[in-house]
Amino acid sequence: MLNFQNNYPLSQITTLQIGGPARQFVAVTTQQDLIEAIKYAHQNSLPFLVIGGGSNLLVSDEPVNKLIIKNEVEGITKVVRFLTVKSGAKLQHLADYSIANNLSGLQKLSGIPGTLGGAIFGNAGAYGQTISDYLREVICVKPQTGEVITLQKDECEFDYRYSIFKKNGWIVLEVIFKLDLGKSKDLRKEADEILEKRLIKYPKGIKCPGSFFKNLVAEKLPKEILKKIPQEKIVYGKLPAGSLLEMVGAKGDKLGEIEIAPYHANLFINKGEGKASDFYTLAKKYAHKVKQKFGITLEPEVQLINLPPLVHKLNHLPDAAG
Ligand SMILES: Cc1cc2nc3c(=O)[nH]c(=O)nc-3n(C[C@H](O)[C@H](O)[C@H](O)COP(=O)(O)OP(=O)(O)OC[C@H]3O[C@@H](n4cnc5c(N)ncnc54)[C@H](O)[C@@H]3O)c2cc1C
Repeated sequence: MLNFQNNYPLSQITTLQIGGPARQFVAVTTQQDLIEAIKYAHQNSLPFLVIGGGSNLLVSDEPVNKLIIKNEVEGITKVVRFLTVKSGAKLQHLADYSIANNLSGLQKLSGIPGTLGGAIFGNAGAYGQTISDYLREVICVKPQTGEVITLQKDECEFDYRYSIFKKNGWIVLEVIFKLDLGKSKDLRKEADEILEKRLIKYPKGIKCPGSFFKNLVAEKLPKEILKKIPQEKIVYGKLPAGSLLEMVGAKGDKLGEIEIAPYHANLFINKGEGKASDFYTLAKKYAHKVKQKFGITLEPEVQLINLPPLVHKLNHLPDAAG
């Protein structure tokens, strides 16, 4: 039975604690209800959005004219090295489960909030590991037809913070992993060390959506642009967006109750009752400065809901001014 609610405040379900009321909201705990909710939206020509932990979202302050479906469909089954995991499972729970079962391949994702579905959507990763590394298959539903299909890993188009699900809007239902064998004690130690490091960037209780802009793959940048970047800024083949933002003075800037962390220029924090409009304006200001100084268009990693695309706006700016 689907329990729809009207005018549901999305600030209650985003880690940033920002977001206006959704026209309709429903939380689902079974795969059948998830599919039913999508069908309901389709039959009623209602735009919809499936979300997980709301940990990668910047939602407008204004009302959102959509049905928001919160995926809470959890469950993990294990057969030797294979895990079949429902998409609403919490990523932390999945990492802990794999560690406890002497399985290696997900332990470095410890500390990333949100669900498996959200992680697949953006190919989440940290410390050199991504959610797709040990993935075999994704079972998903095509909202347009209700058809449930299975994609092999190579059909998912995984790339840096990218998957086919960003392109086609198919909804992830279940994921199958084949993990390596490991020793629980060693894996736990590895995960705990990462959790400790993460606390420095993300102290307990911080209200944010993770890093806001994507890092840049150095080899994909034009040579003229790379010449302007000090070589020591390139880390593991990536040019961190935070380095560029720092070079244009973003650290510590504030607008209303949104602050750019004084210790990390790609981390935008809601210090109290912050507004999406202030977040957006601040992000645009520094993306603009980066575009002007380096000719690089920063793209948000965070999904903007009910807000104009930032990249489109920046592409209408004059090109790099040296
Ligand atoms: C403190 C903090 C630290 C973070 N650190 C990292 C990090 O180290 N590495 C990293 O990669 N990310 C990081 N993030 C970002 C975020 O946690 C991840 O992107 C996470 O995987 C998002 O999952 P979610 O369930 O919260 O997705 P949501 O924010 O709920 O949704 C994000 C997008 O995924 C889509 N989506 C959600 N579920 C599904 C589904 N079942 N099928 C299809 N699409 C779906 C939504 O429609 C939306 O477009 C961090 C965030 C925070 C707040």
